[in-house]
Amino acid sequence: DDNLLKKIVAHAKEYGFVFPSSEIYDGLGAAYDYGQNGVELKNNIKNYWWKAMVQMNENIVGIDAAIFMHPTTWKASGHVDAFNDPLIDNKDSKKRYRADVLIEEHIAKIEAKIDKEVDKAAKRFGDKFDKAQFVATNERVLRYTEQIEMINGKMKAAIESGNLNQLKTLIEELEIADPVSGSKNWTDVRQFNLMFSTELGSLAEGANKIYLRPETAQGIFVNFLNVQKTGRMKLPFGIAQIGKAFRNEIIARQFIFRMREFEQMEMQFFVKPGEEMKWYEHWKAQRIKWHKILGLGEENYRFHDHLNLAHYANAACDIEFNFPMGFKELEGIHSRTDFDLKAHEEYSGKKIQFFDHQENRSYIPYVIETSIGLDRMFLAILAIAYTEETLEDGSERTVLKIPAALAPCKLAVLPLLQRDNLPEKGREIMDMLKYDFQCQYDEKDTIGKRYRRHDAIGTPYCVTVDHQTLEDNTVTLRDRDSAQQERIHINELKNKIEELVSL
Ligand code: ATP
Repeated sequence: DDNLLKKIVAHAKEYGFVFPSSEIYDGLGAAYDYGQNGVELKNNIKNYWWKAMVQMNENIVGIDAAIFMHPTTWKASGHVDAFNDPLIDNKDSKKRYRADVLIEEHIAKIEAKIDKEVDKAAKRFGDKFDKAQFVATNERVLRYTEQIEMINGKMKAAIESGNLNQLKTLIEELEIADPVSGSKNWTDVRQFNLMFSTELGSLAEGANKIYLRPETAQGIFVNFLNVQKTGRMKLPFGIAQIGKAFRNEIIARQFIFRMREFEQMEMQFFVKPGEEMKWYEHWKAQRIKWHKILGLGEENYRFHDHLNLAHYANAACDIEFNFPMGFKELEGIHSRTDFDLKAHEEYSGKKIQFFDHQENRSYIPYVIETSIGLDRMFLAILAIAYTEETLEDGSERTVLKIPAALAPCKLAVLPLLQRDNLPEKGREIMDMLKYDFQCQYDEKDTIGKRYRRHDAIGTPYCVTVDHQTLEDNTVTLRDRDSAQQERIHINELKNKIEELVSL
């Protein structure tokens, strides 16, 4: 829901998770800065991914390739010719839209009409209401469904044939108006490449146009031989990478869900041709497991299998997450065949193959890719974690129930009073623990206020130092989610916290 997203955006800013980029100059569209708590959460997500992918798999290694790559890379990958969005301008408002999205929004309106009919009927029939039966037989609903199928069919045909003005024709046929001005006066549809370009070297020396990478994957493909040879890797094996990617998105909105500069965590798994389906299923299962262990709620994930495959894929699906805007793509899993390595072989003139000793022959491996947006994962976590609740004592709080393993700050050390040697004792506990955990020391304001502050940034545990601590070296350990406290000895803190914050 829109309201939840607004609350998350406000909370993320107020508590140092995400700021609009260059805010003092009124921000820059679809670019965001991660603050003091955001960077910790982001690092923890990266770490969780890296551990699961690289550290836990003996046959997967990591790299960190440059963002700038030789321009031919993007010819070979197909991005120069085909990484496009179809755009249309409204002649009166001068606003620019993605033609396919205008049509999808029109479809969403028809879907809303169906929902309305269903709701009405559900009320009328009460307990006896059979939704599937109603949708399959009600004349009005059938008419709407038919319309949707017709529009979808025409849209796909236009995109697949590359005949973009069919999209314009469809927009005119459907009488779609500019959401801003209401005008139906549209320009022709143009292809707009999503890659950012810049010049390498000074213009005078004959500049070369280069691109900011729109995905991290190509840095892995061009290094296939380097890693395979120096790492003495045998098939099947994988190369993982976390890094920035850039896309000149036209519909850049929905906070950090769609940005122009974002971060991807990608892994390319190279396999023997013919074995790709087995590995595709393997990685689907592994990746959904990785998500579910976090405990954000199994019902918030679903697979969406692609029926219309990209030209280079022989199987593909998305893991969709239930974001505040509804179910949307969080991660993609693609069986990319030998498309990329073959293209790089062709364009570079270098042999990019694996020598299979058992079969005594060389071949270009097939690839299974898993690709997840780090920022989308961050948003997924915030969306589930954000909770407004009333505690047993009647007080209200906003708490981020971030999985403890990923929380920006694991432990807050809070001396009850700013005197009687309690601060010194608190500092001593900080020194015991701060190498092992991200800890914060906080002595300002009442203990209640300090608990609220740490609830708001998702700190899973608070240690309170009181007068009894000075006598017997015990402290209270407060749990964020239950607000329950237990008394434990300071020598047990390290083991206890370790156990609590591991997955
Ligand atoms: P979408 O259809 O939402 O534009 P995509 O299919 O173009 O995404 P991929 O090219 O498969 O995305 O990229 C892999 C992952 O990178 C996506 O699953 C998503 O998590 C992330 N991603 C892609 N584009 C963006 C963006 N503009 N901002 C943030 N994350 C992104």
